[in-house]
Amino acid sequence: MQDIRCGNCSKKLGEGEYIALAMKCPRCGTLNHLRAESSEPERHRVPVIGAAHGPQTTKQPTRQK
Ligand SMILES: [Zn+2]
Repeated sequence: MQDIRCGNCSKKLGEGEYIALAMKCPRCGTLNHLRAESSEPERHRVPVIGAAHGPQTTKQPTRQK
């Protein structure tokens, strides 16, 4: 078994074995996306911590002053 900890505040959320897990931290509210990647080779990957999903390029002006 392994500890499941929050990626933001390191609060222990539980323990067990998992392949993939999404768990919201009750303390700081961070949504942790956890993955068991011990058997996977390390790649150049952006760590997915928090809810920063997708490119948010809202640079187009929707309204003008
Ligand atoms: Zn937390």
